[in-house]
Amino acid sequence: TTKSLESEVDVLVVGAGPTGLLLSFALARAGVHVRVIDIKEKRIPTGHADGIHPRTLEVLQSYGLADRILKDGAHIHAIVSAQTRDFNVTLAQSRIEECFRDGMKEDGVEVEQPVLPISLEISDDKIMLQSPTSHPVKVVLKRLKPGETIDRATIASQVTRANSEVVRAKYVVGADGAHSWVRQALGVDMVGEATNSVWGVVDFVPETDFPDIRIFCPVNSPHGSFIIVPREGNLVRIYVQLTEVDVDQTGRLDKSKFSPDEIIKVAQKYFYPDKLATPKVFDWWTVYIIGQRVASSYSVTNRVLIAGDACHTHSPKGGQGMNVSMNDAHNLAWKLAYVLRQWAPTSLLDTYDAERGNFAKELIDFDKRCVKVFSAKVKADDSEAEGVTQGELADMYTTHAGGIGIQYHASMIVNVSNPSLAANLVIGQRLPPGIILRMANFRPLELHDLLPSDTRFKVLILPGNISDPKQKAKLDAIAAHLDQPEGFLKRFTPPDAPEDAVFDIITISRMEKTAASTQMISPRLLSHWEKYVAVPVSNHQAYIDAESFGARVGGNLYATYGVSNNGAVIICRPDGYVGMVATLDDVDAVGEYFSGFLRAQTDA
Ligand code: FAD
Repeated sequence: TTKSLESEVDVLVVGAGPTGLLLSFALARAGVHVRVIDIKEKRIPTGHADGIHPRTLEVLQSYGLADRILKDGAHIHAIVSAQTRDFNVTLAQSRIEECFRDGMKEDGVEVEQPVLPISLEISDDKIMLQSPTSHPVKVVLKRLKPGETIDRATIASQVTRANSEVVRAKYVVGADGAHSWVRQALGVDMVGEATNSVWGVVDFVPETDFPDIRIFCPVNSPHGSFIIVPREGNLVRIYVQLTEVDVDQTGRLDKSKFSPDEIIKVAQKYFYPDKLATPKVFDWWTVYIIGQRVASSYSVTNRVLIAGDACHTHSPKGGQGMNVSMNDAHNLAWKLAYVLRQWAPTSLLDTYDAERGNFAKELIDFDKRCVKVFSAKVKADDSEAEGVTQGELADMYTTHAGGIGIQYHASMIVNVSNPSLAANLVIGQRLPPGIILRMANFRPLELHDLLPSDTRFKVLILPGNISDPKQKAKLDAIAAHLDQPEGFLKRFTPPDAPEDAVFDIITISRMEKTAASTQMISPRLLSHWEKYVAVPVSNHQAYIDAESFGARVGGNLYATYGVSNNGAVIICRPDGYVGMVATLDDVDAVGEYFSGFLRAQTDA
C-alpha cells in the first residue's frame, strides 16, 4: 500500500484573501508554525474591495505595513456630504494582499495554491480537545494542477491516499470568504436576511463632467443610488445599484448574464444631466447580491474558527467589508499565539467569538441604517417630511464608518471597573493616539508607534508629576513590585523567555522638560529587560507628556485620556485596545486582571 503524506501544523489557514493573509502574516511574525492554502491558482490581479478605514490604517501601521499602502493608495480627505478629519485610503485589494504576502515571505511562509480542502474532522476525544499540544483537527488536502477546474465532487471522488495530504492541525481557521466551505463543513448557519439588493461595480478611468468625480461621493439621484470611490492612479470605482434584476432561489447571481457596459448604461442614467462616457477598457468589474447576515457562531470547540466574509456579509455602503475582515484576523492572531505558547488556556479564544461576533451584529445594524439613510430622500431641514438631512448623512460617515469607535464589552480581557481613573478613555475601545517626548532627549514620538502588534501587552504607567515626591514614591513602588516573584511581570513571563516577552512597560510622566531627568526613573523602568545594566541602559521606555521644543507638539496625553495628577496604570492589549485601568497604588489589581486569562508561569 502507498503511504499517504501526513503532516502536523499549529494553524492551518484556509483562504488567502485579506483575512487569511493578515492572520497568516501576524502568526508567522509571532513565530507560530502556520500554513495557508487557497483554492485559486494565482492571487487576484485587480478589483474586489479597496477601502481602508482610519482604524485599519492604524492596525496596518502597527504591523509596519502602512507606509507602503499610504504611498501607493489614493487618499480620501473629503466625503462630499461630510468633511472627515481623519482620512481613508483606497487601494486595490490585490496590492494590500501583496504587502502581507511579501511580509510573510520574510518569515518563510508562502500561500500554497491551488490547493483544495477535501474534508475536515474535529476529534471528539475530550482529552485530546483539552490538551494544548494535541492536533485534533484532521484536514485532507488535494493539490490541484494548474488550470484544473475546481469541481469539488469530481476532485473529491478522485482523492486517494497517494495523491492527497492529511494535515493534522492544532487549529484551523476558515478565512475562505462569503461562501465559506469551512463554515459549511462545520454546519454553522448564517443568520439574517438575504436582500434583493444587487450592485454592479466597475473600475475604470472616467471621462465625465461630473464635478466631484475625484471625491468619495455617495449619491442618491432621483434615478437611483450610486457611490463614487476615487482610486490610485487615475482610476475611479463606481458602485451602481441595479434595480431590475431577477434573483434566483440560490441567492447567487449568474455573472455571465451581466456586462460592464450594461452597468455603465445604468450609471449614465443615474449621472444625468452630467455625462459619463462609455469607457473602452475596464480595470475590473463585478456584480453581487447583498445579504445582511452573521454566522451563528465563530468557532466550533475553539479548534476550528472562521473569520472575515465567512462570518458576515453586508452592503458596500459603509465600505466595511475588508476592514471588518482584517480586524477579525487582528483580534484572533494574538489570542492564537498565546494559546499556542501555552501562556493562556484555550478559553481565551471564547473572547474572539464574543468580541467579533457582537461587533458583526452591530455592523449589520449599522449597515441597515446606512442602507435606509442612503436610500432616503435628502431633505433641507428637520421637518416632519420623510427623508434624512445632510447633517444625518454627515454623522453616518464621520461617526460610524472609520472603525475607530469599535468597542469590546466587559469580559476576561476587558475589565471596566475603574472608568474614572482615565475618564476620557473608553475601556474596550482602541487606545487613542498622542504625541509624547522621550525623556532622555525630548524627541517627540507617536505613542501608537510604541505599541506595535508584537503580541505583547503594553503596560503604560502614568505616574503624574514625579517631581512630587509622593508620585515618585508610587512609581518606585511599582518598579520594586516588578522584581517580586508575585508581581505580574515575574508571574506571567515564562522563566526561560526574555523578560520583555509578555509585557512591555512604558512610563509617561506629566512634567516640564526642564524638570525631567532619567535619573529620576528607576533603572527597572528605564529598561526593565536589560540583564546587564553595565551596557548603556537604553532610555527609550521613559517618556514625558510635555510640549516639544521645535514643532510644539505633545503635552496633551493626560488630558486626552482624562488622567489626573494622581496618575494611573493603563493596560493596552496586544491588539491596541484598552484592557483595564488601575490606580498607581493597586498594581495587585493589574496582576488579578492578568490572572483572569494568563497562566501563571511560576509557583508564586
Ligand atoms: P475573500 O476576499 O473572499 O477571500 C477568501 C479567499 O478564500 C479567496 O482567496 C478564495 O479563493 C479562497 N477560498 C474560497 N473557498 C476556498 C476553499 N474551499 N479552499 C481554499 N480557499 C478558498 N468588497 C467591497 O468592499 N467592494 C467590492 O466591490 C467587492 N467585490 C467583491 C467581489 C468578489 C468577486 C468577491 C469575492 C468579494 C468582493 N468584495 C468586495 C468583498 C471583499 O473582497 C471582502 O469583504 C474582503 O476581501 C474580505 O476578505 P476575506 O479574506 O474574508 O474573503
